[in-house]
Amino acid sequence: MPDPVYLDHAASTPCDPRVVEAMLPYFTGRCANPASRQHRAGREAATAVEEARVAVARCLGAASPTEIVFTSGATEANNLALKGAAAALAPHGRQLVTQATEHPSVLEPLRRLAAEGFPLTVVGVAPDGRVRLDELARALGSGAALVSVMLANNETGVVQPVVEIARMAHAAGALVHCDAAQAVGKVEVDLASLGVDLLTLSAHKLYGPKGVGALCIRRRQPPVRLRPLLDGGGQEGGLRSGTVNVPGVVGLACALKLAVAELPVEPARLAALRNRLEAALLDRLGGVTVNGGEPRLPGTSNLSFAAVDGQGLLAALSDLSLSTGAASSSGRPEPTEVLCAMGVPRALAAASLRFSQGRFTTEDEVDHAVERVVEEVTRLRETRRRR
Ligand code: PMP
Repeated sequence: MPDPVYLDHAASTPCDPRVVEAMLPYFTGRCANPASRQHRAGREAATAVEEARVAVARCLGAASPTEIVFTSGATEANNLALKGAAAALAPHGRQLVTQATEHPSVLEPLRRLAAEGFPLTVVGVAPDGRVRLDELARALGSGAALVSVMLANNETGVVQPVVEIARMAHAAGALVHCDAAQAVGKVEVDLASLGVDLLTLSAHKLYGPKGVGALCIRRRQPPVRLRPLLDGGGQEGGLRSGTVNVPGVVGLACALKLAVAELPVEPARLAALRNRLEAALLDRLGGVTVNGGEPRLPGTSNLSFAAVDGQGLLAALSDLSLSTGAASSSGRPEPTEVLCAMGVPRALAAASLRFSQGRFTTEDEVDHAVERVVEEVTRLRETRRRR
């Protein structure tokens, strides 16, 4: 059987072969611990980590490489940002604000903090998936300490107005965290123009390895203070103890440089593939709706198919790698919280599929996916009609 067509890049991307090549020496010959400054091999490993930090800082428009702390991925970076900032801010203010379509790696740490005595307000979204700014303004009015809003949603690709949100939150005296795991490498992300204090990214969403990411922390006056999650050897400026994943951070930096270099062309190519898929499915099947309004990420489509069960459709499409909603919850049959928060009726939310194209996706693969989806949706609807 041929390999399934991979249309689940929002869940994870293949490592780019150029990234693998850059990482390889650090698994074998260049194996030293970057904290082993007593020998040359250790100092060389430390140099590789610092070069990666400089590259990541440059790609994201950070004021200095010291603003980058390497982590094991976006989940850890989100936990460090939220729990770390909440602990440091607690003497001055405890009110936390987020919005309804955040990833569980933001919502769950915030819920835990709420259970520990940090009041949490979850602002709603409009049917297009964008934060209701009037509701946010009201939530900020009660004296927020920390606001967390994602840049792009993992299920729908909807891009939030983070510049405006950061401006509003800062005017209210709050710190701003942004989970940019889905956005970095797909659209331009510039820390200076976004105006956020903390920003999360993950390598495996941008053709880098799994298990590595970073938290960007504003160090300019006043510097953002965080309490670390891990205590130990004091690596990463004391914020993330544990031996640095040298091949991982080399891979992250290489992947990010490649993605940024391709920003002038790749988003337009991906948007064309996404539009081709959406236009063909809307044209050939009735009862198809696109979940989420513009602006959206170029390669992500979330579509609902009326009168079809999403899990049944996914099972029938075994030659396509797709997901219903978020990867971390696609084992569960319930409709996703994200679509429900947008007001998508339960039946349609349960009949939704996410298609996410990537760097190696071709037009032929998209056309194949369209043929197969048309075939299976038509078949499932006919079966349902006959029952
Ligand atoms: N935030 C968002 C928006 C994501 O899409 C993901 C991955 N699904 C994460 C955080 C978690 O990333 P990681 O796998 O690096 O922990």
